[in-house]
Amino acid sequence: MSQTKTKCLIIGSGPAGYTAALYTSRANLEPVLYEGHQPGGQLTITTEVENFPGYPDGTTGTQLMEDIRRQAIRFGADVRSGLITKVDFSKRPFIVTDDSGNEIEAETVIISTGATARFLGLPDEEKYMGMGVSACATCDGFFYRKKRVAVVGGGDTACEEALYLSNIAQDVFLIVRKDYLRASKVMQRRVLEKPNIKVLFNTQTQGLYGDEFLQGAHLVENIGTTKEQHFDLELDGFFLAIGHTPNTSLFKGVIDLDEQGYIVTKGQSTATNIEGVFAAGDVADPNYRQAITAAGSGCKAALDAERFLTSLE
Ligand code: NDP
Repeated sequence: MSQTKTKCLIIGSGPAGYTAALYTSRANLEPVLYEGHQPGGQLTITTEVENFPGYPDGTTGTQLMEDIRRQAIRFGADVRSGLITKVDFSKRPFIVTDDSGNEIEAETVIISTGATARFLGLPDEEKYMGMGVSACATCDGFFYRKKRVAVVGGGDTACEEALYLSNIAQDVFLIVRKDYLRASKVMQRRVLEKPNIKVLFNTQTQGLYGDEFLQGAHLVENIGTTKEQHFDLELDGFFLAIGHTPNTSLFKGVIDLDEQGYIVTKGQSTATNIEGVFAAGDVADPNYRQAITAAGSGCKAALDAERFLTSLE
């Protein structure tokens, strides 16, 4: 068991965490970053990334994360594999413990633990991940030009993803388990008026099929009623939009969270309710959830941490 002192501890390793490490290392805060159980975060489960500025020919999510990681290490960031399992934010310096029992004494903390897309829990989702199954239309929609895709969910995200895909794909099916959409009225109207979006109400997915790539979904309509009907829908892409869960269980009761569990930050800053603790990326953002916005907020958190430390001098 070791003990480390740092001016800035970063918890989490997506675009927000690595960018915070890049900026804090260049500001001589000698950051320590814990990568967590999915080094590189959600981007490492997407395929191509073509909308991150600076990559005119596109790149992969894994490569993009590796690039920012290396950039941070080049300026001295101490990037560690491992999980943070305990935080004590009751006084500064904060005491944080990792899964091997090592203690880190940190003058500031940046939380960038991200969010996890919810899945239906079908074994086939994992099998076809990146081979037809995706949880991000903005990331992967481009690969379905003139193809047939489905989006699962009836909230604003599902409607937004369906509309986005309807400008790329030939046919979009919105699979909604209830007989109504939960999305805002304006989004509902846009979806219902779009000629190439077909909403399948009262419909649930029971499985996916295909060979190497996804070829379709096994669906059931009006399950548990006399009108129950099973059918297969041929598809090239299957997008999940049934919500995200922010990875904040470690901070419950310590950091202010909103009703969905996202970290609440103050105004336009990344400051949380605890002085010296900042939050960046999807863990504090239910709205934009893009690699570039997460990276931008990682930069903001680094500047906020640096300014906070300067204000104490
Ligand atoms: P929501 O929780 O609003 O909606 C989730 C949807 O997924 C619901 O229709 C729900 O169905 C469905 N669902 C959940 N679990 C399953 C399941 N196991 N099988 C099938 N369907 C399932 O999540 P969103 O991500 O859409 O939105 C999150 C928040 O972000 C909301 O407050 C939303 O308004 C906001 N948002 C705002 C946007 C904007 O203003 N531009 C854009 C995107 C999101 P059911 O209704 O049956 O529970």
